Amino acid sequence: MSEEFDCIVVGAGLAGLTAARYLQSAGLSTLVIESSSRPGGRVKSDQLDGFTLDHGFQVINSGYPNIEMLGLLEDLEFTPIAQGGLPFRIVGGIHKPSDLTRPFLRGVFLTEPRNVSPRVRAEIYKSFLFGKPGLVSGGASAFSELLAAPVSNIHFNETVQNIDGTHVKTDHALYSARKVVVATDPTTATHLVPSLDVIRTTSSTTWYHVADSMIEGAGRLAVPASGPLIHSIAISDVNTSYAPKGSQLFSSTTLKNISESEVRKELSNIWRCKTSDWQFIAKYEINQSLPIHPAGKPLYSPLEIRADLFVVGDHRGYPSQQGAMETGKRAAKKIIERALQAR
Ligand SMILES: Cc1cc2nc3c(=O)[nH]c(=O)nc-3n(C[C@H](O)[C@H](O)[C@H](O)COP(=O)(O)OP(=O)(O)OC[C@H]3O[C@@H](n4cnc5c(N)ncnc54)[C@H](O)[C@@H]3O)c2cc1C
Repeated sequence: MSEEFDCIVVGAGLAGLTAARYLQSAGLSTLVIESSSRPGGRVKSDQLDGFTLDHGFQVINSGYPNIEMLGLLEDLEFTPIAQGGLPFRIVGGIHKPSDLTRPFLRGVFLTEPRNVSPRVRAEIYKSFLFGKPGLVSGGASAFSELLAAPVSNIHFNETVQNIDGTHVKTDHALYSARKVVVATDPTTATHLVPSLDVIRTTSSTTWYHVADSMIEGAGRLAVPASGPLIHSIAISDVNTSYAPKGSQLFSSTTLKNISESEVRKELSNIWRCKTSDWQFIAKYEINQSLPIHPAGKPLYSPLEIRADLFVVGDHRGYPSQQGAMETGKRAAKKIIERALQAR
């Protein structure tokens, strides 16, 4: 016999965790099933020899309404990037007005901005200019763990294999629920809910190096106007918890997985120094970094696929923490409203 819940949320990324928080606080019995061993999805980090290594350059924006609403940064040590002025500096020539935004937005969307809807470009640019992007001590994982903290009943290391009506089959068990919320990455969502459109995604690689001598002013994001490197920053200048005392940790991202020596050459041009003695720490290749949100696609796609099936995540909103969390919140509110009406 399958176990029965009010709701099952598939995936404990930001969208799934946000949905689960709202559903559980409304008193709905909710099971969260997560295939990996920890919460956060794409928002996570590793600790290695005193260094904090986020899976990609992932800033937390204290101005995102969903982060503000849940008061998430109150319990974390948050340090903004570049206090005062633009949070980035363009490396290379500025020849036309779009050169002022293109390099930065390429680093945000992990693709050329022309591939992304103008509405989404404006939304994200605004959030960086008027919000306060920064880093939290302990890395991106600290943020996800805090979001997950009040959520009970998360089954980690359990993968949903298929959804048949309100039955959810995993590699461990069969469950059922009145409502199922699919909160996975877009590729898995399309596999679990075949009626969804296929979503194109970007890929990226983030490299971590330690400089052999301190570089001044490297705590402001450098965004090259051209070349394979899309951004680089001394992440430990922004938040000192990212590296042991006396070490300067650089996070640099490329769209293609180029060789480490090419990355060093690019870093040398950006930071105007010799990088041959920089220590390579790690690299993270992320195959499906972000969904591409093309022109013409609305900011939010419908979340209710059937009366008993919702799909949330950044691919149903726009590619960002805010977009993902907002879809989780909207779906949960709809489910709660229906549950109240049914009483
Ligand atoms: C390199 C990089 C940098 C970024 N930088 C920023 C930034 O600075 N600011 C910003 O706002 N956004 C940024 N983003 C975007 C942001 O991280 C994402 O938009 C957001 O985290 C997506 O959350 P999600 O919950 O929709 O999906 P995900 O994080 O992908 O969560 C999906 C979850 O579902 C789980 N899952 C998948 N399949 C199954 C299954 N079959 N059964 C059970 N569980 C399953 C996965 O393990 C995962 O935990 C960045 C993303 C990347 C990759």
